[in-house]
Amino acid sequence: MNYDLIVSGAGPAGSVTAAAVAQAGYRVLVLEKDSSCRSPCAGYIGSTINIELPEGCTIQSKIRKMRTYFPDLSFHDFQLNGFVVDRSSFDMALAITAEESGAQIRWQSPLIDLTGDCVRFRGGEALGTIIVGADGVFSRVASLLGEGRQRVAFCAQYHLKGIKPLPEPDTCEIFFDADYAPGGYVWIYPTGHNSAKVGLGITNAGYMSPHKYLDAFISESAVAERLCGERTEYRAGALPCRRQFRHGRPGHGCRHQQCDAGRRDRRENDNQCP
Ligand SMILES: Cc1cc2nc3c(=O)[nH]c(=O)nc-3n(C[C@H](O)[C@H](O)[C@H](O)COP(=O)(O)OP(=O)(O)OC[C@H]3O[C@@H](n4cnc5c(N)ncnc54)[C@H](O)[C@@H]3O)c2cc1C
Repeated sequence: MNYDLIVSGAGPAGSVTAAAVAQAGYRVLVLEKDSSCRSPCAGYIGSTINIELPEGCTIQSKIRKMRTYFPDLSFHDFQLNGFVVDRSSFDMALAITAEESGAQIRWQSPLIDLTGDCVRFRGGEALGTIIVGADGVFSRVASLLGEGRQRVAFCAQYHLKGIKPLPEPDTCEIFFDADYAPGGYVWIYPTGHNSAKVGLGITNAGYMSPHKYLDAFISESAVAERLCGERTEYRAGALPCRRQFRHGRPGHGCRHQQCDAGRRDRRENDNQCP
């Protein structure tokens, strides 16, 4: 089967790209390795993004402020406008929009290989004029194109439920403290009056896993008392730490990496597509 565009990955980058190109009348195939969208993301979305929150996306809280703490717990407040959403429902709603726009999505169909314009995936092959790698931080497309591994922060997160009522449920909190998040930070994103997503990302590989640092923050930090509750929905993941890199020129046979799949360092990866 021939497509104008084949997108690897039905995360937000892949689905938004697929929807826009399908709406313009092109034949679009999206390959997704999982059976549905299952992002580990905390779900903060700034109101400055230029897409509407899709129908079907669950908004967990409205955010008006960001409070940034230093290790001595002194803090600085910033005005912030956005939402914390349930990212699985957000991503799924974007994928449905892509399908409704005419893109074909193949679930449980990970991209396996790329040869010229031919894409091989679990269960078949397809030809694509343009291939977009939107397959996340450990992108298969990027690795097939010979891109070096990008620098990442390793993350861990719980959705804490039944915690003490949050003093300011419209405030996202960020903690910079090398004891709990070496080379990164801890976040507390409210999802209701007495629930929050609490997670961290670390870049300095220390002697503990992100999971253990997170358990330590929740149990032992200066704010532990207000985080005592049920630890649900444990998630692990990674965040890229460098800027976006574009591989190739638009046109026939072009491969393009989107969002998390593409935040590489240009100096290390300045190749052009054939
Ligand atoms: C713990 C954590 C918390 C975060 N919190 C926030 C936050 O609050 N706000 C925010 O803006 N960002 C947050 N992020 C970052 C955010 O999740 C990413 O920037 C965003 O999801 C990137 O979107 P994407 O579409 O590029 O990739 P992804 O969302 O990673 O989607 C990639 C898709 O590709 C699929 N895939 C992978 N390999 C293949 C393959 N071989 N073939 C086909 N499909 C494949 C995956 O299954 C996935 O569906 C967080 C990240 C983590 C890890």
